[in-house]
Amino acid sequence: MSSTGESVVHGSKARPQDLPSIDKLLRLPEVQPLLQAHGHTLVATEARGLLDGLRSRILDEGMDSATIQPETLVRQLATAIDARLKPRMQRVINLTGTVIHTNLGRSVLSEAAIRHLTAMMEGPNNLEYDLAGGSRGDRDSIVEGLLCEITGAEAATVVNNNAAAVLLTIAALAGGREVVVSRGELVEIGGAFRMPDVMASAGAIMVEVGTTNRTHLADYQRAINARTALLMKVHTSNYAVEGFTSSVPEAELSVLAREHGVAMATDLGSGSLVDMTQYGLPHEPTPQEMLRDGCGAVTFSGDKLLGGPQAGLIVGERDLITKIRKFPMKRALRLSKLPLAALEATLMLYLQPELLTRELPTLRWLTRDGETVLRTAQSLLEPMQTALAPRYEVRVQTMASQIGSGSLPVDRLPSAGLAITPVLSGKRGTGSALDALANALRALPTPIIGRIADDSLLLDCRCLDDVAPVLAQLDALRAQLA
Ligand SMILES: *Cc1c(COP(=O)(O)O)cnc(C)c1O
Repeated sequence: MSSTGESVVHGSKARPQDLPSIDKLLRLPEVQPLLQAHGHTLVATEARGLLDGLRSRILDEGMDSATIQPETLVRQLATAIDARLKPRMQRVINLTGTVIHTNLGRSVLSEAAIRHLTAMMEGPNNLEYDLAGGSRGDRDSIVEGLLCEITGAEAATVVNNNAAAVLLTIAALAGGREVVVSRGELVEIGGAFRMPDVMASAGAIMVEVGTTNRTHLADYQRAINARTALLMKVHTSNYAVEGFTSSVPEAELSVLAREHGVAMATDLGSGSLVDMTQYGLPHEPTPQEMLRDGCGAVTFSGDKLLGGPQAGLIVGERDLITKIRKFPMKRALRLSKLPLAALEATLMLYLQPELLTRELPTLRWLTRDGETVLRTAQSLLEPMQTALAPRYEVRVQTMASQIGSGSLPVDRLPSAGLAITPVLSGKRGTGSALDALANALRALPTPIIGRIADDSLLLDCRCLDDVAPVLAQLDALRAQLA
């Protein structure tokens, strides 16, 4: 670079005063494209940080003057700006074998949902505007008709997530009064969401009945009194009590609720909108079934088996839904326009059920047959062996995926993937070699997330539609491990 008009003697030691001033650095022609792209503020901040860092290094450890040449400085400045602007939220490749992975963002949206979401966010929309009447509208009306049509409910409302749906339902229907719930259903969903705490937050008085493994209709019956507002069922979606168990089905409990003039609500958690058994998957209760069995209000998630955005859906009897919708807390929990657009497009797919296993990634991955997954794994085998030799051995192996997000906790789906084991003389060092590999995979430009089990790193191929993004990173992986 001749622009500074300075010459450097290679091999000589750099002195702090050899560094250019910020102004001088920013005036270099090579920096002008950076200033155009990002503006003065960020470029100057990063330039200051770079020069400060170099000044300390010169003083502390000494540097060769060649390393502070203008072209090197400009390159470092560009790298620093790129790093500063790298989003914290990144795409990853989910090879964990858990299809609906809460830590990896749960359901992936369909193309239709992404298109509608993008189109609606590019400009103003009729979120709360009645186009026919030219007056204020209600955001619930965007999806209420669809939800009623699909589930058979009289009315529906939506909030930010299912935890919010449960909280709001209890607060609106039973605030200050008693809610009867089975001890076998006092679940913790994860994080701080525990049913007893939710009841307390909602201002309701929880009345526990039955035992962990068995609760009978008579237990509920004995608990009902003048203060009772709600009988609550919670789908124990993330664990299973096996053996000597008994719980009261919704169909029986709803009769009891009606006899005593109290409301009944069910938190389904995942709540699939279609019968999962038609795909050979384990049965998951649907809101349709719950409503048919007489539940007054049913809550479920938008981003679990439904395959849409984060949202909490409440469907049920009109008078209960009206009460829930009018409750002041609803305003604080309302669904934003982004997920609402995605939810509408996702629900439209349920009007075309034949498309679901093709268009909804969650259902596509859950229903992908073992043979297809095996072929995907086989196509990765050789390239992966080449990338990891000689330190790791790679095999194709059958394995079991899980649905995830608390749905169907005991059922595993036959799947396939790569099992990677370190090549070592003994068992010693296996753990750290596997960790090194897992770290390297996570450090890739598009991180690959697997799981460690049985002294192997497993890469389950169930959720891998396309192997290209994996293959494209194998050179980088090899370099990471070198
Ligand atoms: C997942 C789950 C919830 C919470 O739903 P979010 O959409 O994550 O807020 C509540 N109840 C049950 C039974 C669940 O499985």
